[in-house]
Amino acid sequence: MQMEQKNSRYARTAVSRRADTAGAYRDFEATELYCPRCKRAVPVRKRLLLVLPEGDKYEYLCSLCSATVGTKIDRQKNNDSLIV
Ligand SMILES: [Zn+2]
Repeated sequence: MQMEQKNSRYARTAVSRRADTAGAYRDFEATELYCPRCKRAVPVRKRLLLVLPEGDKYEYLCSLCSATVGTKIDRQKNNDSLIV
C-alpha cells in the first residue's frame, strides 16, 4: 500500500487591485460645487461669462444638469496695490 499525500492545493490569495484613482491624478482645475438641482456636490465646468475691467467673470455650470452653481471673478492683473 502506498499512501500518497499530495498537497498540491495551495491557497491563492486573490489580489484585488484597486482600479480607481490610484496615483493617476489628472490635472483638473474644476472643483466640486454643490448643485441645488442635483442636491449633491457635482463636478463643474468653467465658462467665461463676462470680461470686466476688474477681471474676467466666470460661471460654473453643473456638468450633470448644466445649472449655474456659482460665479467667480478671476483677476489676472492685480498690480494696483503697490506699496512703496
Ligand atoms: Zn446639477
